[in-house]
Amino acid sequence: ADADTGASGYLSIDLAALRRNYQKLSTAVAPATAAAVVKANAYGLGAEYVSKALYAQGCRHFFVAHLTEAIELKPRLPDDTQLFVLNGLQPGTEVRCADAGAIPVLNSIDQFRRWSSTAQKLGRVLRAVLQFDTGMSRLGLPPQERTALAAELKGCGNIEILFIMSHLACADEADNRQNTDQLAEMRRIAAAFPDLDVCLANSGGVFLGGDYHGVLARPGIALFGGAPTAGRSNPMEAVVRLDVAVIQTRAVPAGTPVGYGGAYVTTTEARLATIAAGYADGLPRSMSDRGAVFYDGVRLPIVGRVSMDSITVDVTALPEGALSLGSLVEVLGPHQTLEDVAEAAGTISYEILTSLGRRYERRYR
Ligand code: PLP
Repeated sequence: ADADTGASGYLSIDLAALRRNYQKLSTAVAPATAAAVVKANAYGLGAEYVSKALYAQGCRHFFVAHLTEAIELKPRLPDDTQLFVLNGLQPGTEVRCADAGAIPVLNSIDQFRRWSSTAQKLGRVLRAVLQFDTGMSRLGLPPQERTALAAELKGCGNIEILFIMSHLACADEADNRQNTDQLAEMRRIAAAFPDLDVCLANSGGVFLGGDYHGVLARPGIALFGGAPTAGRSNPMEAVVRLDVAVIQTRAVPAGTPVGYGGAYVTTTEARLATIAAGYADGLPRSMSDRGAVFYDGVRLPIVGRVSMDSITVDVTALPEGALSLGSLVEVLGPHQTLEDVAEAAGTISYEILTSLGRRYERRYR
């Protein structure tokens, strides 16, 4: 553990790699532009650091999910940026949204009307984005509201729609039919709004090809090093490295129960090490007896249940004495990707990143 800060885990965030990932995505979508999805504190990595690094790389469009995130982030972004609120305009938050300078993604005709009334009340033109549901059935204008919205938009002088958007449900599966279905639906909608530009692609969408790029792509996970397409080699560079300290070691005989419930019992003599990160630090309990950490490239399996603040690993494969108190083992890094951890936990890279928690010392470089 670090003598200065007392931290027993280090989350290293490589902002240069993040910027290279942004550059790579920008190049992939050119002549369209790449925005950045920085909701949930930039997938757990720090929205302010991430946004500033991306701004330096040329990014000017940022998406968060909640208005509260926008209120926090907006004052930290330069004025020549646009910050969009994906979850839409909740009743009663209209003036707060306008005051924050956030741009709502309007997901229903009701949201459109409330935003227009707010513009009227404030005596201003307010900017917005219109999101359409093209097949995900989550957010966005439902098909039955489209005609009415198109008509109301024509007569509306106080809302400036910057672009129209939709979200792809299956973009990480390159061959999924739903991608082409959603694209076709988005094209029908775009034909009804011929003056408006399209924003469609998430990370997976960027790699589905130019048809999906519109004028603005909005990747999230790929910026942070996650694989944009399932089952294909990951073209992105790792951004995150996580090293956690050993806080106790012991040698045990065969037949020793380990951890809560005694759910694991050693079958031979073993050397164990307890590591200072648990499910409260984003190592899901589902990694119990499945996940691993690495030391010097050697795989050290998690034995027994993941606890709130620690895991225990079998270090018998290492030379005796190789690990001591404060030795750092790799949870995420060159030997174990985000996807590896996600797979061991039975989840997705997004959930691993956004769960990492606040107890690591964060090192931005
Ligand atoms: N657009 C919307 C509406 C989203 O909800 C998300 C995140 O889930 C993204 C874009 C970014 O997606 P990804 O992280 O898969 O690139």
